[in-house]
Amino acid sequence: MTNRRRRRQDVPFGWEGVEVRPYKPDTGGDGGAPFKDLSRQVLFDRSDLACQVRLFDIEPGGHSTLERHQHAHAVIVLGGRGQCLVGEQVLDLRPHDLVEVGPWEWHQFLAAADDHLAFLCIVNRDRDRPQLPTAAQLDQLSLDPAVAAFLRLGSPP
Ligand code: MN
Repeated sequence: MTNRRRRRQDVPFGWEGVEVRPYKPDTGGDGGAPFKDLSRQVLFDRSDLACQVRLFDIEPGGHSTLERHQHAHAVIVLGGRGQCLVGEQVLDLRPHDLVEVGPWEWHQFLAAADDHLAFLCIVNRDRDRPQLPTAAQLDQLSLDPAVAAFLRLGSPP
């Protein structure tokens, strides 16, 4: 029986009473934000709490949107393997890693080709909308070979 104060994990990365939603980026109505094979669950969302805790689960080879914004993210990897781009750094990810994304840092999360990547993301409840990179900003980011290789994995031609 579901207790509203304690919701148990009933399947891996799934909790009682928590809806698994297809990912929908909050960049507005343009629908142009590229992402692939990921789902989002909102685990905690209360009007009297200034943050939300969400769980993202990216399928093998999938990725989140490359974006930046004023608000920060605190990320805790729960399962699987992958990589992220934060600022100008590409980082390998494994369970229990902690990742900080600061204001206006470009960021994207990518699951390994043969594994999913599940992570908690703690974020301000009240937040600005993400910006997507322009072609010029993508070119600028791609000057670093490691970043260029990461971006190719996230958006193959
Ligand atoms: Mn973000």
